[in-house]
Parts: sequence; structure tokens; C-alpha cells
Amino acid sequence: MPFSALGLSPQLVRAIVARGYVAPTPVQTEAIPAVRSGRDVRAMAQTGSGKTAAFALPILQRLQESKRTGPRQLGALILVPTRELAAQIGESFRQYGRYLPEHARIVTAFGGVSINPQMLALRGGADIVVATPGRLLDLVDHNALRLGAVATLVLDEADRLFDLGFAAELGRILALLPERRQNLLFSATFPAAVQACAEQLLRDPVRIEVAAAAASTPAIVERAIEVDPMRRTQLLRHLLQEQAWTRVLVFVATKYATEHVADKLRRAGIAAGALHGELSQGARTLALADFKAAKLQVLVATDLAARGLDIVQLPAVVNYDLPRSAVDYLHRIGRTGRAGEGGVAISFVSADTHAHFELIEKRHHRRIPREQIAGFEPEETTVPLAPSTGGVKGKRKSKKDRLREAAAGVVHPRPATPTQLENSFRWHRMPPGRPRR
Ligand code: AMP
Repeated sequence: MPFSALGLSPQLVRAIVARGYVAPTPVQTEAIPAVRSGRDVRAMAQTGSGKTAAFALPILQRLQESKRTGPRQLGALILVPTRELAAQIGESFRQYGRYLPEHARIVTAFGGVSINPQMLALRGGADIVVATPGRLLDLVDHNALRLGAVATLVLDEADRLFDLGFAAELGRILALLPERRQNLLFSATFPAAVQACAEQLLRDPVRIEVAAAAASTPAIVERAIEVDPMRRTQLLRHLLQEQAWTRVLVFVATKYATEHVADKLRRAGIAAGALHGELSQGARTLALADFKAAKLQVLVATDLAARGLDIVQLPAVVNYDLPRSAVDYLHRIGRTGRAGEGGVAISFVSADTHAHFELIEKRHHRRIPREQIAGFEPEETTVPLAPSTGGVKGKRKSKKDRLREAAAGVVHPRPATPTQLENSFRWHRMPPGRPRR
């Protein structure tokens, strides 16, 4: 079934297509129409099932349909257990809502950081708030927001909300919400506390159950972001701020790049260190110890660090430079999502490297949707590797040259095929990877 059959507006479909989604996942197929029609939902779904879009898209759609007359009021409240999840869901809402004619104001709020910027962000109101329960109550106590007009409440990863001891906060929040509202509950498991909460909260819910991922598969979400090479450090800084990762392992291709990127981050006030094979053993141990002790937020490393490194609670890995081989890709992303924890592995892909990334995907039988982040959209386009009319083989043309050629109607020959490219890389024999979903 295509996304357009789910009754989503053309602007939302455009944003989904831009993210590279081809068809809705099972939880999306079932939840989107239910949420759109105003029903309550009880969904058993895990991270990786596409559950965020399953509630975010219809919430944005309903918001768009309800014409606002008075001042902005909080229409949808999404409660989540962790700051990483809050940041991730907030970013998803922004991405999905980017083409809507009337931009939804989305505010993300979580503890462990100063409350002031969040209070400032709430000035003038918000349409959607994604928050951890404790910080949400702090904001209510500071009169930074009111919950009296919330039309849709989402409890995401409800089992973890209870595991992390948020039951009392949830009770207080529920008491502040209007009686008449839509409730959506998403949880990977339904232990007694979640079951009881579902029974109390939900009115005649649509029940959704999607097959659980194999228990042995750690929940690593792979993402690929298109960005020009020159803007990678800026994008990395943006992601550090947006995603609120406590720790990130950033992979680069050379020893020089580890120092260079770490240095640029340090100059921007981020605690960053470098790790590569030419450091003394003492310096390596120290860098790792500082990273594990959270004295360093970012560790910029060559592939040397990918093997054998076990850092529990490493929420994110970033491929600033793509790995040379498909095997290294697996080693790198395997640094996150350890010990059953969730993790995200982000690859920066540029015009020059997209064919190489496609090969990595092919090797692992997966297709990772390409994303673009607002403000970091790439300007460079793919350069054909075959000789083109004029220009030097493999050399990127200036923007001016490209515009001139476009105006003159120059048609480039097709880029090299994956097989041609594959021959130019060093590949290891790979066991077949797990297919994505
Ligand atoms: P979630 O389960 O919401 O954390 O989503 C897991 C990952 O799947 C995210 O990287 C989403 O961008 C991606 N995703 C969500 N829906 C789809 C879809 N219909 N097709 C492909 N990827 C998707």
C-alpha cells in the first residue's frame, strides 16, 4: 500500500518521500488511519518498527486540519522516557512537518540541562511538546506551559517510562489534562503496570501488534544523511545539540582527520578527543578512559577503535568519513546498541561517496533512507566518473560551471555502474547481513 492511500496530505507525503520511505511499515498502515479518525490506540511496537511516524504523521495531519483561530495552544503532548528519545522524536516531527504551509511549533524538553532555553522556546506557545515527564512538570510549575487544551496524548515506550520510575509523574500529568482527549500508547512489552495503565487510559482502543524483532538483534537504527563534505563538522555540531547524545564515537579516515575534527569541535566548546594508531598506548588508554568517564563527549577515531571497543551506553556512532570496506561498516555500527541498549548509527553521505555507500548497503542487503537536515541540504551533485564533455575526469565542477552547463543544456553521460565502481574498491568476503525490516 502506498503512503498516499493513508489519506495523508501531499505535504506530508512529500516529506516522507524526501526521507526515502517507499511504503508504510505495518504499524504505520494500522495506526495512521486510526489516529486520523480520532480513535485511541494501544500498540505493541518496538524501536525500529517505524512507530514514531505512525503517530507523528497523523498528529501533524490533524493539526493541519484544525484551523487555529485564537493563540497557539498545546495540542499534542508526547511523553517519553529519555532525553535521547525526546530529541529524536522532536527532530522526526520537524522533518515530517517541514513542507506544511503553516509550520507547527515543536518544542523538545528534557532534564539534565538548563531549563531556561526550554522556557524561552515555549514563549509564544507550542503546538507539539515532546518531553520527559519530570521536566514537563517542572515547566508546568514554572508556568511555562499549560496542558488544558491537549487533544492528543502519546505515551511512547511506556514500559520504559514505568521501568524508570515515572509512574507518579505520569499520574500528576494525567490529572492536568482535559477529560476529553485522544490517547495513544506505544510499548514494546506489556508488563502488569503498562497493562493497568492501558486499561485506565484508553477508551475502546484500536489494538495493534507488530511482530517483535529477533531478540538477539540489538536495536541499532541506521541513518544516512546527505551533506556536503565541507559542512560535516557543522552538521555534527548541530546533531550533538539536537540529539542530546551523551557520548558519540565519530569515525574518520585518517589519523590527521581525528586530530583535525577533534580540534574543530574543541574550539566550538565541545569536549572532544582523538584516538588513532600512532598514539602511545598510554595516550590511547587515557582517551578511552576519559570517554568512558564522560569527560569527553566526542571521541574521533580511525577504524582502529572500531574493533573490540565495548562501551556500554554508547548511544551514537557517526561515520563522518565512510568506512573503506563493508566489513568495517559493521564493526563501526556494532559499537553502539550494545548490551541490548538502543543506538543510532549515522553515515554522512556526499555526492562523491554516495555510490560507495550504495555498495555497502548492497553488501548488507539493506537500504537506508537518505535524509537531509534543514539548513544542511547538499549543494554538490554527483559527478559522473566516465569522461564527460569537457572537464577533468572525476574532478568536481564549480557551481557556476554547473549552472552554465545546465543553461546550455549539456547532458552528462551516465555515472559509473555499481559493478564498475565495486572493482575499484577493496572488498572483503561478507556473510549476508540481516535485511532491514
Ligand atoms: P522508529 O521505530 O520510529 O524509531 O523508526 C526507525 C527507523 O525507521 C527510523 O530511522 C525511521 O526514519 C525509519 N522509518 C520509519 N518509517 C519508515 C518507512 N515507512 N520506510 C523506511 N524507513 C522508515
